[in-house]
Amino acid sequence: MATSSSSTGDMHADVVVVGTGVVGAMIAHQMAQQGHSVIMLEAGLRRPRGEFVERWRDMSFYNRLHSDFQGLYPQSEKAPAPLYFPPNDYVGLHGPNGSAYQQGYLRVVGGTTWHWAASCWRHLPVDFTMQSSYGVGRDWAISYDELEPYYCRAEEEMGVSGPHDPALQSPAQRSRPYPRDMIPFGYADRRVAELVNPHGFQVVPIPQGRSIQPYGERPGCCGNNNCQPICPIGAMYNGIQHVQRAEALGVRVLDQAVAYRLDTDDHNRITAVHYYDAGHQSHKVTGRAFVLACNGIETPRLLLLAANERNPNGIANSSDQVGRNMMDHSGIHATFLANEPLWFGRGPAQSSCIVGARDGEFRSRYSANKMILNNISRVVPATEQALALGLTGEALDNEIRRRAACGVDLSVSLEPLPDPNNRLTVSKTRKDPHGLGCPDIYYDVGDYVRNGTQAAVDQIRQIAGLLGGTELRITTNYNANNHIMGGCIMGHDPKDSVVDGNCQAHDHPNLWLPGGGAMPSASVVNTTLSMAALGLRAADSIHAAFQATKL
Ligand SMILES: Cc1cc2nc3c(=O)[nH]c(=O)nc-3n(C[C@H](O)[C@H](O)[C@H](O)COP(=O)(O)OP(=O)(O)OC[C@H]3O[C@@H](n4cnc5c(N)ncnc54)[C@H](O)[C@@H]3O)c2cc1C
Ligand code: SF4
Repeated sequence: MATSSSSTGDMHADVVVVGTGVVGAMIAHQMAQQGHSVIMLEAGLRRPRGEFVERWRDMSFYNRLHSDFQGLYPQSEKAPAPLYFPPNDYVGLHGPNGSAYQQGYLRVVGGTTWHWAASCWRHLPVDFTMQSSYGVGRDWAISYDELEPYYCRAEEEMGVSGPHDPALQSPAQRSRPYPRDMIPFGYADRRVAELVNPHGFQVVPIPQGRSIQPYGERPGCCGNNNCQPICPIGAMYNGIQHVQRAEALGVRVLDQAVAYRLDTDDHNRITAVHYYDAGHQSHKVTGRAFVLACNGIETPRLLLLAANERNPNGIANSSDQVGRNMMDHSGIHATFLANEPLWFGRGPAQSSCIVGARDGEFRSRYSANKMILNNISRVVPATEQALALGLTGEALDNEIRRRAACGVDLSVSLEPLPDPNNRLTVSKTRKDPHGLGCPDIYYDVGDYVRNGTQAAVDQIRQIAGLLGGTELRITTNYNANNHIMGGCIMGHDPKDSVVDGNCQAHDHPNLWLPGGGAMPSASVVNTTLSMAALGLRAADSIHAAFQATKL
């Protein structure tokens, strides 16, 4: 079916999708495959991969060293994303652990997976029942078994490589094999597993959205370790791949189109999305079904910004839960020098992970954790450390080599509980260039995470000991992991949740809010595969509503 436009530039489609990240793009693609007309609105710019690669090459040593993954993506003048080198304070952060919520996310066609690491994890079945299993947090409105077929589909869409041996799977409850064979362990993965597994730890391969053989139009990964912040050859999955597939089926994508208002009718159905173009001209798109897939921060922000007479607290917000329960895997880092060369940093940026403490009865008291054996090359930090020793010439070269070969970086994720006080609101004073209030976020990691940190630190010390570690450093401030969850939380009861198990808004019969915002528990694993699975489930729900002529 075709989209239509009027002489004023207003348009109409069956389905209007706001946000062209992985979640929005996958939904648009599915809807178009089923014959629905689709328009996508995207706040950010559209730019080619080669430009991002050039900007990365031109970046300063300092910015590279400190992992400035945001800076190489050009920003739309009118739709900023958070920047940290220096900070642009687009997101205001408050509360005991406000600084731990410094999320990276992009506002660009294709979204944030341009610079993700492509780890594609599933939640454990028990993660869906935290309240009934452990008496903490909340249960999902759906079970693992209900989401499982969508996990399989999301893995197919992204071409995920993972282990076929159930002993290496986390979780092992799966109805289909991974679409691609696991990326083989490197030397570091094998050696660390050899040293730590006999002591109760479990090193498993990270399932990931890249493979060593070509997948569809994607080339095979050539292992040059540049995934964050940009895969130069497009071997790593990212949202732009589904944007392009959707466009090939006739989906229209409007860039620099910032959605800011939604119209509702007497039945509280959404009738239109209004957006500003690059020249601050307002237009509207009418439709029959609406999807907001702007990510875990921008979706609740838009819902609050779009408050109208019928919905004075914001769209979809009769429960007052929009913007509450904000979560991320606030984490810590540990670095040390092993007493033998391990050579981390060969192959893709994600390789293996220690998941021994992912579940257990302790979760009724404190957070689980997972420890990524960070496979990002250690040459840059090794160089900084060797220079700081005042070395020159051959001694400097040798020390850089030693530190790069023996350096270990553990990236530890902890599991927050949903807390309504961890809240996103819209600033009354700080505005974006369109005059729309910027997001403000209050964040406290909570005692559950604080207590889990102590357990993680004990485990790190043991692991470092097993590798003969020296110069062990464990960060004391929590860092963000960019896994934004909770702001449109899922539940059965419209009084205390925003969406149902299909990510359909309780308050509006034709509005879907899929992605991280809907997730009621965080688990300890990266969240995008779960977000994509929720997106595909939402797409089925929209299609079913069309079939039942409810839209
Ligand atoms: C450095 C980094 C590494 C990561 N690594 C991993 C990993 O290995 N594994 C993993 O699972 N996750 C990872 N993540 C997280 C992952 O990138 C996100 O979970 C995922 O991209 C979210 O997808 P999304 O479609 O919900 O949102 P996004 O990809 O953020 O897309 C949302 C889109 O909506 C647009 N938008 C926002 N507001 C509006 C508006 N008002 N109007 C129109 N458009 C709008 C934005 O411009 C954006 O393009 C990482 C994140 C970062 C920053
Ligand atoms: S290692 Fe990363 S950057 Fe290099 S080809 Fe593979 S996915 Fe792309």
